[in-house]
Formats: sequence, structure tokens, C-alpha cells
Amino acid sequence: MARHAGYSRWVFNWGLKAWSVTYKEGLKPTANKLKKFYTNYVKPHYSWQSQLSSRVYQYAFVDLGIKTLATLSNGEVFPNLKPYRKAAKKLSRLHRNLSRKVKGSKNRTKARISLASQHLKVANLRRDYLHKITSYLAKNFSSIVIEDLNVKGMLANRKLAKAISELGFYEFRRQLEYKCELYGSKLTIVDRWFPSSKTCSRCGLIKKELSLSERIYRCECGLEMDRDLNAAKVLANQAVGYTVLACGQSAADGSGRSRK
Ligand SMILES: [Zn+2]
Repeated sequence: MARHAGYSRWVFNWGLKAWSVTYKEGLKPTANKLKKFYTNYVKPHYSWQSQLSSRVYQYAFVDLGIKTLATLSNGEVFPNLKPYRKAAKKLSRLHRNLSRKVKGSKNRTKARISLASQHLKVANLRRDYLHKITSYLAKNFSSIVIEDLNVKGMLANRKLAKAISELGFYEFRRQLEYKCELYGSKLTIVDRWFPSSKTCSRCGLIKKELSLSERIYRCECGLEMDRDLNAAKVLANQAVGYTVLACGQSAADGSGRSRK
């Protein structure tokens, strides 16, 4: 059991890192794509993993669904911003550029300066984007439910903490917390281990199995819905688990009402 937990965390760490790297490369990572890559190219290199149930790592990728901070229960999706993608690309180019310069040369100093300023630019763009999203959410939704990332617990793991700060989840939550207070919105944080992906958003039935290839959630009650959208709706409906900042009832339907 302990080995399984370690395995799951290991894969989760890998996933977060890969997510951040591919994201910076301007690619659009999904838990599904990463899982495929992992199965084909990463897992074979670690023989100890073949002794453990493959279900463990598959679920780790489900948990990677925290990336759905961009999927709202009303179906809205926040896309990756182009300026950021471009700036991140330039950043890696400047990195390569620096490594080609002769040590101690003036050109190397120049390259180092432009690399540093590009780093700053990328960080600013990322923070800007986060602010736009969190402001939009806090202003336009009376009730917001997000999955808890258990950041505190994960911060004990330095590598993971780094991945999180790169991804900006911690900052995302921090901004949401104070902005919701500012605009009088309710912020509810639900347990990360709540099976939002496997729960039907209409009747509440929890599936025993939900393979990662099932992009459409189908339930006995007749519900058919995009998987991420269903999970987002479940989170909106079920503000269960431990609640950090919730005051009052859970989100009604998550469709949000304009506060303007
Ligand atoms: Zn159902």
C-alpha cells in the first residue's frame, strides 16, 4: 500500500513536471496525452513499476486533472495565451543563445542580460494572466468552487513545490482567496481526492471505473456530457470534503451570475 502511494506520487510529480515543460513549449498538454507518452516512453525505463498495479499510475493522471483550473462548470475554458507562448519560446531560444557564447566575453554578458529580462517578462505575463482569470472569476461568479491542491502537504516535497510554483496554482488560489473576499464571492475549496471525474453531475452516481479514454461521461440516468465539464459541474454541486473558505451553501449551478 505504501509502495503504491509512493508510486502514485512519483507519477504525479512526473506529470506535473511534464505538464509544465510541455506548456512552456507552447504545446497543449492533456492528462491523456501525457499518460500515453508515459506508458510508451517513460514507464519501460523503470522496471520496479511493472511489479505494481498499472491502475495506480492511471489514477495519478486523473489527479493531474487539477489542470482543469481552466474548465468552468458553465463550459467556459481559459485558453493558453499567445503572448505567453511566444515569450516562453523566445526564452528558450535565449537560453540556447547564451550557451553558445564564449565564457567571459562581452557577448556572453549581453546574452545573459537579455535572458534575465526575458525571464522577467515571462513571469510578468504569467502573473498578468492569472490576475485576469482570478479577477474575472471573483467578479462574475457569486460562488466559486475549486479543488484543493493540498499545497501545504506537497510543499514538503521540494521538487513538486517547484513544479507548482511554476504552474502558478498556489498563486492562483492565493489571488482567488483575497479577490473573493474583496468582491464578496464565496470560495469553496473541495478535497482534491473527491472523485469528481467519476461522479455524475446530475444524479450523483459514482462510477467504479472510468477509463481515461472516455472523454464523454455517460450515466445510467441518461446524462451525456464532456468529461471535464461533468467534473466541473460535480465540483460546483458538491462542495464537500473539507472546506476552507466556504461560508453558506455550495454553488447552486455554477453558471454564475453577472455581478455588474
Ligand atoms: Zn447520472
